[in-house]
Amino acid sequence: MQTDTLKRRLRGSLITQFDPGHSGACDALVWNGRKPARRARLIVRAACADDVAEAVRFAAENGLTVSPRGGGHHMSGIAAQADMVIDLGALDGLKIDPDRRTARVGPAVTNARMSAALARHDLAFPVGHCGSVPMSGYLLGGGIGWNSGAWGVACFLVDAVEVVMADGRILTASDAENAEVFWAARGAGPAFFGIITAYHLRLMQAPKAILSKVHVYPLVEAATIAAWAETAMAEAPANIELTLKIAAPPPGVPVKGPLVEAIATVFAGGDDEAHATLLRLFAQAPAAMQVIGPMPTPFDVLDSLTAQAMPEGLRYGVDSLWSDARLPEVVQRIAEGMTTAPSARSLALVMLRSPQAVAPGIGAFSRIGRIFGSVYAIWEDAGEDSAQLAWLRATIAAAAPICLGAYVGEADLELGSGGLSTHTPAAAARLRDLATRFDPAGILAPTARNRAAA
Ligand SMILES: Cc1cc2nc3c(=O)[nH]c(=O)nc-3n(C[C@H](O)[C@H](O)[C@H](O)COP(=O)(O)OP(=O)(O)OC[C@H]3O[C@@H](n4cnc5c(N)ncnc54)[C@H](O)[C@@H]3O)c2cc1C
Repeated sequence: MQTDTLKRRLRGSLITQFDPGHSGACDALVWNGRKPARRARLIVRAACADDVAEAVRFAAENGLTVSPRGGGHHMSGIAAQADMVIDLGALDGLKIDPDRRTARVGPAVTNARMSAALARHDLAFPVGHCGSVPMSGYLLGGGIGWNSGAWGVACFLVDAVEVVMADGRILTASDAENAEVFWAARGAGPAFFGIITAYHLRLMQAPKAILSKVHVYPLVEAATIAAWAETAMAEAPANIELTLKIAAPPPGVPVKGPLVEAIATVFAGGDDEAHATLLRLFAQAPAAMQVIGPMPTPFDVLDSLTAQAMPEGLRYGVDSLWSDARLPEVVQRIAEGMTTAPSARSLALVMLRSPQAVAPGIGAFSRIGRIFGSVYAIWEDAGEDSAQLAWLRATIAAAAPICLGAYVGEADLELGSGGLSTHTPAAAARLRDLATRFDPAGILAPTARNRAAA
């Protein structure tokens, strides 16, 4: 394998397994403190789409599998698990056209940078709940972002993608050209058979007010709170996001065991509308141990709240669920799991969509429900890995019989085909078919890469 030839052809850089610093570079590819055992032989730090194409052609000639890496935030560490990793971290161009309300966005542009840049033009986008996650894998898996009830699942605001295909061709895909590739780019996640080097996005008018309010309850009231939330959300507009967070109390709060926080965030046309919406939502809420807010929570504050709950450097496992069951049933099953969580850092989020929420468009993103839940096992000690992951899997398994599937961006892909499916059977079959046609050697999308293949 002539790695020197590849090195000479790149504008970016190449790290091989023989270079000093290789193992540190492999670990740095993954955000999770729990690093994958498998290490890439080659890491290509691409400086442009041509570098990506060079690297893919080199991989094909040498029989190497390839994984693109956006920000390495997929908690499975899947981005680092191929013979060659193509790191897209330098593809961070962001060009906003305020008049047309569109943007061309490099895969490495993070949620935090995106919302800050758009705010300067009075614009917004349904960015994800963690500021450091980049558009790359976030949009490819679907993108369940802030205000997705009113703005929709983020991938349906993608108008076109620029893609390097498995044979090194560079193309643009949209509804008008290469429509099958475009269909897959909207939700395939790691089963995608190309590498996206830019997204073309449609933008939203920025909300004039973002307000949050939190009601805190003991865990024993979880089912009662869920019953209230179900009734309250039945009448709620699409621009309110209601999440039940089940987590240990913050340090200093003298309560034993997890609490339930009902967290409502409204993205409104003004303060009056925001206050009125929150007032209506909580009008019949059971009496809470503690009430926080309403308080202004612009995107940077929302980011910092997520970062506090999920700091970088710890060890993580995550899985998710979509369900159309009754909310109290789903919450009850997850709450029971939380009472046996081996780590006080672990948490669960259960979000209920408004009946008026925007329905998904056409794309590989095909699993959705009224309820979206994620369970995060979070711990520090490597010796606990098996026990923590066993707990996560048992908690999700207890809820699985009343679930429709999982979200690929937050799915426990290490389970292989054993977990809830991330795509409907029809979408999974189409993805497999397209992968066979566009990537016959399985360089980019070996069928084992996610549950879409199940
Ligand atoms: C703390 C935290 C909070 C999160 N919150 C949310 C949230 O609110 N909403 C939500 O929807 N998701 C959320 N996620 C999940 C996140 O969006 C996904 O894990 C996503 O894959 C991360 O993007 P990435 O580029 O870092 O992926 P990576 O880990 O870099 O890549 C994962 C895989 O995706 C594929 N991929 C990535 N980029 C490309 C590309 N440009 N072209 C082709 N394939 C590519 C590759 O197969 C790669 O192996 C969260 C994750 C974390 C860690």
